[in-house]
Amino acid sequence: GGKLRDSLRKLHTSSGRVTQTQLNAVLSDITRALIESDVNVKFVMTMRDNVKKNVEQLIEKDDDDDDDDDDDDDANEQRRQRRASNVSKLVQKAVVEELVRLLQPQRKAYVPRRGKPNVVLFVGLQGAGKTTTIAKYANYYQRRGWKTAMVCADTFRAGAFDQLKQNATKLRVPFYGSYTEADPVAIAEEGVDQFVQEHYEMIIVDTSGRHRQEAGLLEEMQEIAAAVRPDNTVLVMDATQGQAVNDQAMAFSNAVDVGSVIITKLDGHAKGGGALSAVAATESPIIFLGSGEHFDDLDPFNAESFVSKLLGFGDVRGLMEAMKGGDDGKSQEELMEKMSKGEFTLRDMYSQFQRVMNMGPLNKVMGMIPGMPDYLIPKGTGDDASTNRLKKFLYMMDSMTNKELDGKVDFSDRSAPQVQSRIRRIAAGSGTHPKEVEMLLQAHKQFEGMVSKMGKSGLVGKQAQARQ
Ligand code: GDP
Ligand code: MG
Repeated sequence: GGKLRDSLRKLHTSSGRVTQTQLNAVLSDITRALIESDVNVKFVMTMRDNVKKNVEQLIEKDDDDDDDDDDDDDANEQRRQRRASNVSKLVQKAVVEELVRLLQPQRKAYVPRRGKPNVVLFVGLQGAGKTTTIAKYANYYQRRGWKTAMVCADTFRAGAFDQLKQNATKLRVPFYGSYTEADPVAIAEEGVDQFVQEHYEMIIVDTSGRHRQEAGLLEEMQEIAAAVRPDNTVLVMDATQGQAVNDQAMAFSNAVDVGSVIITKLDGHAKGGGALSAVAATESPIIFLGSGEHFDDLDPFNAESFVSKLLGFGDVRGLMEAMKGGDDGKSQEELMEKMSKGEFTLRDMYSQFQRVMNMGPLNKVMGMIPGMPDYLIPKGTGDDASTNRLKKFLYMMDSMTNKELDGKVDFSDRSAPQVQSRIRRIAAGSGTHPKEVEMLLQAHKQFEGMVSKMGKSGLVGKQAQARQ
């Protein structure tokens, strides 16, 4: 992600000129970065061509004729600077729009209806995360008051029924399955029939995945689908599979009527670019993303958030959503206004951290903050080390002067005696080590840099407007 940002920044050259050569160089950087994020090569090329078409007319020729006479002309130079920055924004906007477009297929997501049985069939390769995701999905609906049940039609994998049973028991969701019946079609049909009769609203069917998309597996899917006539078939795909997602999605989508996609394991190192392939192959929307092994690690999908994360801008929209509903909506808006201008003081960081502390689950929220250093993001939901670090940061900022908080003190030269003495004072006042204060200042610098980039990108402003 960071590479992408950097390549976009290259468009701001010292001379302020954007030439065809530069545009090509930047586009090839972006292309490489996207392919490294597992975005399908074909999409990347289409995106590149479209972006090129859109911005080409704004580009200066390499052998610019009127170059010689105007070199020292200030007004001309300013015009160039403006144009370079516009082109950079345009390229960025075009890339984002193109990716968002790819993630939003014609087919709309199936919307389950209350008061009637909604049968949802889960398919996908073994290990993709079906059984885990089913538990999360059941949890999601049950928490919202839906009468929910699960059916285990995986008779292939040893222990499959036990796994589902365990999840169902923890969630207190009724389940259906068998240790003796070997025919998954029979079990699926019996289970669904029973829960339909009992007026369940959300009936979720788990299936086997086996190892590859063998003909046998796909046939089994077809038979189960024919038997339970699902209202929606959800294809579960593992983000860590990278480019392989494309072929898998094709195979499943040719066999059964895939209506939605869920991408799992986005909490790991996977960049998630394969999601675009899954959407293209199935022509169906992504409905949720899986981000961990816990029942609440399931996030409704939002294309803009996903793309801005893919591009390394952080999940600005997700963050907005999470922050909405707080009592100080007004000051949040003021902050967004500031951020859209690229401003972010220690005081702003203080109020953000404070909000985060009150928002829980910490790891989720922290992960959404653009530029949040990795070492600050807790690994599990209850990671006290990170919570404590955050608290310490707040104590340190409590020990700062107004001037320091409001960005009127320059901390950049750490070896300067005045800076050293400020750091010592803050450490003493907050009961921390000067090294920890330096860590805080470093974190702030990272945030500030991020915010300034986002401000230039226009992304924050757009988010703020979109909220009205
Ligand atoms: P199935 O064969 O498709 O039913 O896959 P499972 O649900 O059994 O999951 C396979 C493995 O992936 C298990 O160890 C799960 O805990 C793990 N898993 C599933 N979803 C996620 C996720 O979103 N993040 C992480 N980190 N692990 C996951
Ligand atoms: Mg399973």
